[in-house]
Amino acid sequence: MKIINVAIDGPSGAGKSTLARLAAKKFGFIYIDTGAMYRASALKMLNLKIDIKNDIPSVIKAIADTKIEISHIDGNQHIYLDGTDVTNLIRTPEVSIGASNIAVIKEVRLKLVDLQREIAKNHSCIMDGRDIGTYVLPDADIKIFLTASAEKRAKRRFDELLEKGENVTFDEVLCDMKKRDKNDEERAFAPLKPAGDSILADTSELNLAESERLIENIISERLEK
Ligand code: C5P
Repeated sequence: MKIINVAIDGPSGAGKSTLARLAAKKFGFIYIDTGAMYRASALKMLNLKIDIKNDIPSVIKAIADTKIEISHIDGNQHIYLDGTDVTNLIRTPEVSIGASNIAVIKEVRLKLVDLQREIAKNHSCIMDGRDIGTYVLPDADIKIFLTASAEKRAKRRFDELLEKGENVTFDEVLCDMKKRDKNDEERAFAPLKPAGDSILADTSELNLAESERLIENIISERLEK
């Protein structure tokens, strides 16, 4: 059977992971969340008390010695850092900022990109990230650039955090999101930008069910061609 690769890129909070997971289930592909790999790498540095922004040589040394693996359990991606399942430890605000900072380091990216390409070579997958269509899988069968206005993305993230009982303000969430957007868009190596051959999906005015339909329609239309 032909292996199909779908790349979904876009800024933080655009709903990539939710929509990619739903679409993967519908089409019978595996879902690869590449952000989790940057998060696990950042967690390693936090555990080692390495200052990611100011001590890049130590980050590069530590990452060379780090084993990141993924597996799928009941359709859900699990991520392992040096053999330990850290799936539930990588969603804290501290790890989010660490991941955004570590993602500018080329040596870290190259290591994770190797892992991502290896998985895509062997499995039909929907892979989400920032540079999948432009750098990781330039020959992906389908490329989607999923976006929404910064205010809408921040509002969704803010509602999620409130539901979890976190004590944050909307302005803090918006400011954090803009900081992460800037890091992703302005980094020298593999920055966030739509691939020339990607399909733009803007979900600013769509609810979850509508966004889901939009993504699934884009994928089914391309698969039929
Ligand atoms: O998608 P998520 O927010 O979990 O990703 C965490 C961080 O990892 C992002 O803020 C982004 O800077 C970085 N990232 C990246 N390239 C990817 C996936 C994530 O630079 N392919």
